[in-house]
Amino acid sequence: MKKIGVLTSGGDAPGMNAVVRAVVRKAIYHDVEVYGIYGGYAGLVSGNIQQLNLGSVGDIIHRGGTMLLSARLPEFKEEEVQLQAVEQLKKAGIEGLVVIGGDGSYRGAKALTAHGIPCIGVPGTIDNDISGTQFTIGFDTALNTVIDAIDKIRDTATSHERTFIIEVMGRDAGDLALWAGLAGGAETIIIPEENYDIHEICDRLKKGQERGKKHSIIIVAEGVASGTEIGKQIKEIGGMDTRVSILGHIQRGGSPSAYDRVLASRLGARAVELLLENRGGRAVGILNNVVVDSDITKVLAESHIIDLDLLRLSKQLSI
Ligand code: ADP
Repeated sequence: MKKIGVLTSGGDAPGMNAVVRAVVRKAIYHDVEVYGIYGGYAGLVSGNIQQLNLGSVGDIIHRGGTMLLSARLPEFKEEEVQLQAVEQLKKAGIEGLVVIGGDGSYRGAKALTAHGIPCIGVPGTIDNDISGTQFTIGFDTALNTVIDAIDKIRDTATSHERTFIIEVMGRDAGDLALWAGLAGGAETIIIPEENYDIHEICDRLKKGQERGKKHSIIIVAEGVASGTEIGKQIKEIGGMDTRVSILGHIQRGGSPSAYDRVLASRLGARAVELLLENRGGRAVGILNNVVVDSDITKVLAESHIIDLDLLRLSKQLSI
């Protein structure tokens, strides 16, 4: 393989740039040309492709977002549109592709591989919702952003003796809420992977207040309900007032953490190795701090497994 491409797709995540840098530098190290595809699959279909050199990826390792831009192209599910992308790649002489994104992006990568363009998936999403890896790139940074917000909200919760509900991102996954809740010392964590009982939550709040606890932090994953909805339920069932804080898109931005930069560098470099070994249709990941790769079809068929021991631990520690 002498020419490869790289694109970022779906929701952006901190560390995507560090992956792009690793892909470009690793490929050039092996005398392989690298082409950046701008704007995800939409840019691929329209042929927005430019060669990248060592300098193109200078000064980006610490930047959030993605220099290659991202986009959503729902039509990429259609074979006809996928074949237009294959044509563009063939026209540019690109023989393999690194796709950085979430599971939607992986589906596109799987389809292109089936059409004869070997692709490697690199997990870039703050949601940590991809199988075949314990951590996705961007998760650690988003987690730190959420913790920072929880710490600040805790200051005001303490001063005003209030119960705060903090809604965090994660799509259908509860990892971000769970890890943030444990690290932020939240009293209650509500995630999609475990049913919640609003009566039990209200009882816990009341018992805490009776023991002299003046404030409480409740973390709710967006995949369960909005923070406002949970606040309404607590008012209705327990008669308690709450304040709601929806963190929103600040969770997607910011300079990637050291962990995410190292993960991005390792996974990006491994993706290039796999292409050079002619092993398309794989997705890279990290398992017990070892870089691994799995069949992208298998990764798409399986769900990421959340560590519910952390939820039990949080309940024991927040009594
Ligand atoms: P993420 O990759 O973060 O999960 P999306 O689900 O929005 O984000 O997917 C990103 C892009 O991947 C979509 O806009 C679309 O172009 C492509 N994609 C999503 N699902 C499929 C699919 N089933 N087949 C082919 N391409 C897909």
